[in-house]
Amino acid sequence: MTKGEQLYEGKAKKVFATDDPEKLIVDYKDDATAFNGLKKGTIRGKGVINNRMSNALMRMLESKGVPTHFIEELSERETLVKKVSIVPLEVIIRNISAGSFAKHYGVEEGIVFDAPTIEFSYKNDALGDPLLNEYHALALKLATKEEIETIKKYSFMVNEVLKEFWLSCGVTLVDFKLEFGRLSDGTIVLADEISPDTCRLWDSKTGEKLDKDRFRRDLGGVEDAYQEIMGRLEKHIGG
Ligand code: ADP
Ligand code: UDP
Repeated sequence: MTKGEQLYEGKAKKVFATDDPEKLIVDYKDDATAFNGLKKGTIRGKGVINNRMSNALMRMLESKGVPTHFIEELSERETLVKKVSIVPLEVIIRNISAGSFAKHYGVEEGIVFDAPTIEFSYKNDALGDPLLNEYHALALKLATKEEIETIKKYSFMVNEVLKEFWLSCGVTLVDFKLEFGRLSDGTIVLADEISPDTCRLWDSKTGEKLDKDRFRRDLGGVEDAYQEIMGRLEKHIGG
């Protein structure tokens, strides 16, 4: 597979064309941003960890019936994926109150919900990714009703699979963000990444944060937390 021209450089990854118009190469960087790009930094080794973790989790999800963009890990930081047209919705699933949920609704972090919640935001950096509901998404023609139903179904499936997997690693899956896309035939698949950048992961015993909140909140030990969570995954994967 030949790496072609760079099509896009985002906050965490670069995207390259390949000699196959239906395939792309994503290249994971160590760059970290938070608060809509206001806070910038580097997390050494993050790109390698996020690439490997996202691929391992996507393989697991495929085996449980969630279609994903994953094709093949090419190197430490590079992965071959199916090219999609991204549905401009960030889908957030929450099992426990944290982050913007705690802030918006004036509750503490750590409240365990009886059932997971789902919310959407409009993936639009210029607007600051505003929250919207399904009716807004339909009005803005961001996705069809059927696509939204498929996205919701897959998102809750992802939650069940990942919640159980992380629990077996001694980690509580608090919340996470997913992105979906359309293949050229319109099929909806899970795209982008699943990593400590896009999930809140707490040590089940101590509550220690093992995710990007360490960077967002200047908690220190950022690189160590990424290494720790990757180590836990590798110890439990497949077993
Ligand atoms: P951002 O654009 O938010 O800064 P990244 O740095 O992670 O994010 O850039 C990766 C970009 O690639 C994102 O815009 C993401 O939506 C997009 N993307 C992820 N997977 C695919 C895919 N399979 N096909 C096309 N685009 C993708
Ligand atoms: N998230 C993400 N990208 C975003 C916004 C949120 O990956 O642009 C993830 C975040 O890491 C967390 C979950 O989605 O796991 C919920 O984030 P929240 O809405 O609480 O926002 P935050 O507190 O990160 O601003």
